[in-house]
Amino acid sequence: MVSNAQSVSLQNRKGRYFCFPPSQGKAKSGETFMKADLKGMSLAETEAWIERQGLPAYRAKQLRQWLFKGLVGRFQEMSNLTKGLRLLLEEKAELTSLEVVETQVSKDGTIKYLFALRDGLTIETVLIPERGHFTLCVSSQAGCAMGCRFCLTGKQGLKRNLTASEIVDQVIQVKRSMDYADRLTNIVVMGMGEPLANYDAVLRALNNIISEQGMNFSHRRVTLSTCGLVPQMREFGKDITVNLAVSLNAADDTTRSFLMPVNRKYPLKSLIAACKAFPLPNRRMITFEYILIEGINDRAEDAMRLAKLLSGLRAKINLIPLNPHSRLDMSPPPMERILKFQETLVDRHFTAIIRKSKGQDISAACGQLSGRHVSGLS
Ligand code: SF4
Repeated sequence: MVSNAQSVSLQNRKGRYFCFPPSQGKAKSGETFMKADLKGMSLAETEAWIERQGLPAYRAKQLRQWLFKGLVGRFQEMSNLTKGLRLLLEEKAELTSLEVVETQVSKDGTIKYLFALRDGLTIETVLIPERGHFTLCVSSQAGCAMGCRFCLTGKQGLKRNLTASEIVDQVIQVKRSMDYADRLTNIVVMGMGEPLANYDAVLRALNNIISEQGMNFSHRRVTLSTCGLVPQMREFGKDITVNLAVSLNAADDTTRSFLMPVNRKYPLKSLIAACKAFPLPNRRMITFEYILIEGINDRAEDAMRLAKLLSGLRAKINLIPLNPHSRLDMSPPPMERILKFQETLVDRHFTAIIRKSKGQDISAACGQLSGRHVSGLS
């Protein structure tokens, strides 16, 4: 499975934009060809593709307008394109369209979408109501190879990388389902998967999410969360300007390696160095997520070590009490301990906020996305 995912990534590096599994068309000669996966292409690539079809370049902008702002599901709905062009698009291109298998609504208004991919795998996307707006938590992989101990997605292993269009389409499909779609203003890439392990597709998708000729989300309101893939973090800061969150969860290597195997490869020293080198526009900070787990990382000395580790960084800390689950052999600390942990950080001049994950009753909270419809999982 991993090798399949890697082969998609290599194809993307060569500038192709095939979907996985690729959908095929048939030329008049009877030869098969790959259909262009329009939602995963940049404006320049769309223009080049349009030109290759012998059409004027302005059609590319029209097309993207329909895809990313009109949110249409079929070429036939693109009413300002000629009938001939719509037929050509149907023959030579495709609109990745994730299928909603199920939605679950939490008591707190959080909605979890279970999407089916073309090859039968499923992913989850979570729409979170906040004060006056919504945040969408999107997935970047089906499953995850990183194996963090506190995370149900990690227990599945990696099934495959998502394509850029499968990532963008989570935003499109959720917007289509909303009554007030313009209230969806914030995107976090924190769902299933490690986004920087699917670098090219995630970068391509984020570019379409923030681009003016794409979905036009503000880059200030888009955040990517990583478990700490250091080489990719260094590249990412140069390739795009969005917010960075780091899933930290411990301030010493022994505890972090126990919770997050990635730390054995990229220990804290290299992770913090990559954070210090990460380019931050004015007044922006890196968010450090710290899942509090009873008896593992919740002592006063852990808080003091955390403060020392992050000193000198423009950092804010989200303290997230572990979301308990029957498949996890860990539990959150009692509230008084959580408050004490926070106080230790605040006393040392850090912004430290206790975040209660929403959607716990529908297993939509942080670390709970499990893709329970995936075969082999209960
Ligand atoms: S926390 Fe993130 S990186 Fe770790 S296993 Fe879960 S999805 Fe993967």
